This record gives sequence, C-alpha cells and structure tokens, in this order.
Amino acid sequence: MSPVASERPSLIVVAGRPGAGKGTQCARIAAEVSAAHLSLGDALRQHVARGTPLGLEVRPFVDAGRLVPDRFALDLIDAQLERERAPMVLLDGFPRNLAQAEALECRQPGAVSLAVLLAVPLTTVAERLRSRGRPDDGEPTLRERFASFEHDTKPMLTWYERRGSLVVIDADQPHGDVTVAVKALLARSHTNHRHPATALGRPAAGSSLFSR
Ligand code: ADP
Repeated sequence: MSPVASERPSLIVVAGRPGAGKGTQCARIAAEVSAAHLSLGDALRQHVARGTPLGLEVRPFVDAGRLVPDRFALDLIDAQLERERAPMVLLDGFPRNLAQAEALECRQPGAVSLAVLLAVPLTTVAERLRSRGRPDDGEPTLRERFASFEHDTKPMLTWYERRGSLVVIDADQPHGDVTVAVKALLARSHTNHRHPATALGRPAAGSSLFSR
C-alpha cells in the first residue's frame, strides 16, 4: 500500500432517523475502539451557538430542521477529516443525502467501508425524543427532520445498499446491546472489506427494518 493510502482512515457512515441513537452509539464505540467520532450536527450546533459566520448562515436551516446546503456540510467534513489521524472514523449524520454521498465518494474513492443504519420504529424514537429536550427538538422542527430522513436519507441508503455497503442494525434495543452489535459488525467488516453485509449474513435488501 502506498503511504498516502495507508494514512487514509476507513470511514463508517452512521445513519438513522432522529432519536435512533447515532450520537450515543458513536460516542460509546469511539471510546472503546480505535475510532474517531465526527458529528456534523454537533459541529453545526457549536457554530450556531458561537455565532460564527458559518453559524449565522446555517442557523435558519438547523432551526427549521432542514438540511443545511451541501457545500457547508462538505466543507466542514473536509476540514475535520483533514485533521483526523485515527484509522477509523465514525461519520455521525454525514452524508445525509445522495448528493453528499456521491461527493464524498468522489473526494475519497473507496474510503467508505460500511454504511450502518440504526433502525428504530417511530413509536420508539418519539418516546426517546420526548425525554431529550435539544433546542431543535420542538414539534415543527422535528417533523421536518423526520421528513428529511424519508426524502433525503432513504434514497442515499438505497444507493449504499446497491453498492453492497449497507448493514441494518436493530436499534430498538437497550443502548448496550446496540453497541455490542455495532462493534461486532465493525470487527467483522474489518476482515471482509469487500462484502460487509454478505459477511454478516444480513444483506439489507428488502429488510423490514429498513422500510418501516
Ligand atoms: P438528528 O439526526 O437527530 O436530526 P443531528 O444532530 O444529526 O440530529 O442534526 C441536526 C441538524 O443539523 C439537522 O436537522 C440539519 O439541520 C443539520 N445537519 C446535520 N447533518 C447534516 C448534513 N449531513 N447535511 C446537512 N445538514 C445537516
């Protein structure tokens, strides 16, 4: 392997509707294995809270529960990945639509080794979000974020599925059990980069977890 290629981290895309546990799981896993956790939502919220020029630009989108324009998301991720030295990076909430996924693939061909969907039914996330209370967890904003998952993120997940990169994890279980499942997945995909979903005996196609 060339020195450049060996320095490039393997990227794990972590997706799921609001309240699926992306942030919780990424933080837990990054603390336990040699992986970094990049949360685009957290980075955007920090910019908004500090009132940076980027924060002022993206605030209306974040407040409304809509995706910020792709160029902001891509620039932020580029800057964060450039600094990253960990062998594996958990991308929490990025990419989130087809255009972002294609742009990432174009900039870092083959770097995404796995896309993980944390699947939870709406009834469970509604329950979880009620007890959370983040500023963008109000009713109209949440409705937009759920809609964005349906319209923007699901087509992207289908794209990863067609590439053989998507694995669906049942996240309607206690956090500890989900962490164990994702860690097992990462360990197994590490030994079988080409067909992670097949290696698990769990191709995502047609999964009821994906569609519900
Ligand atoms: P959730 O998944 O619960 O909606 P996040 O913290 O991942 O929470 O995202 C919060 C907000 O940040 C989103 O509603 C959106 O406005 C913005 N955001 C996060 N990731 C992206 C992205 N990849 N592209 C565009 N906007 C994003």
